[in-house]
Amino acid sequence: ESKLQLVRRHIRDFPDFPKPGIVFRDICPILKDPAALTAVIDLFEEHVRKNHPQVELIVGLDARGFLFGPLLAQRLGVGFVMIRKKGKLPGTTASVAYDLEYGKAEAEIQEDAVAPGQKILLIDDLLATGGTLYAAGELLKKQQAEIMGCLVVIELNELNGSDKLKPLPVFSLVQY
Ligand code: 5GP
Repeated sequence: ESKLQLVRRHIRDFPDFPKPGIVFRDICPILKDPAALTAVIDLFEEHVRKNHPQVELIVGLDARGFLFGPLLAQRLGVGFVMIRKKGKLPGTTASVAYDLEYGKAEAEIQEDAVAPGQKILLIDDLLATGGTLYAAGELLKKQQAEIMGCLVVIELNELNGSDKLKPLPVFSLVQY
């Protein structure tokens, strides 16, 4: 069994969650299985070493980006930074507002977390419409980071999130 097959086998589908008509892709089985979690980080590491060897920082999105980001950062020997939902980070923060399917949200980063020109990769568990990663990208642009691309475990192709993120490259392990 390949690493990709191992990862795919540890994603569970929950129809009608959190709302009727939505199939939620659950990554909890990956976390529960050491071999599957190692495979995720191995695959991300291989991709980054090959395509973005200059990366200086991994920036993860609240909340499931925090599960994979620090493991990858440690493998690569770089730091990890959190982008959090509004009101969670101490000190001076920069923020960006963005639209959700229903209503609005705000994402924040500590103002001194990323140095101007620093080469970063964004990470989250799943790319759907791309709204969340797009907002994170806007926030990091304000901080003058050099964004090299986005990493996700799962990409939902029919929602065209990677089009929304263009010209940023998106690397995903499993597509639906
Ligand atoms: P987007 O902003 O791309 O539309 O939605 C992506 C965000 O919503 C990610 O932060 C992701 O964690 C969350 N999300 C949306 N749908 C799912 C899903 O089916 N499974 C998981 N694990 N996360 C989801």
